[in-house]
Amino acid sequence: MKSITKKYTNGEVTIIWKPDVCSHSAICFRGLPEVFDPRERPWIRPENSTTDDIINQVKKCPSGALSYYMNEGE
Ligand code: SF4
Repeated sequence: MKSITKKYTNGEVTIIWKPDVCSHSAICFRGLPEVFDPRERPWIRPENSTTDDIINQVKKCPSGALSYYMNEGE
């Protein structure tokens, strides 16, 4: 089965979200609601926070649905 991967970036860091893996635990949108808001589209808006805060929150995702990488250069 091919898993879906969505990407969202603030230009510095890119958040990867795998909807198939997400357990909808709400940890991300309780912890950093300015970025993670399931009522909005897109529901992840990394331009609303700092790279450090985003990385810290991504690491708290209990299911492994969220991950990140640093963008190259620029
Ligand atoms: S913290 Fe992870 S598992 Fe929980 S809602 Fe966010 S993406 Fe999904």
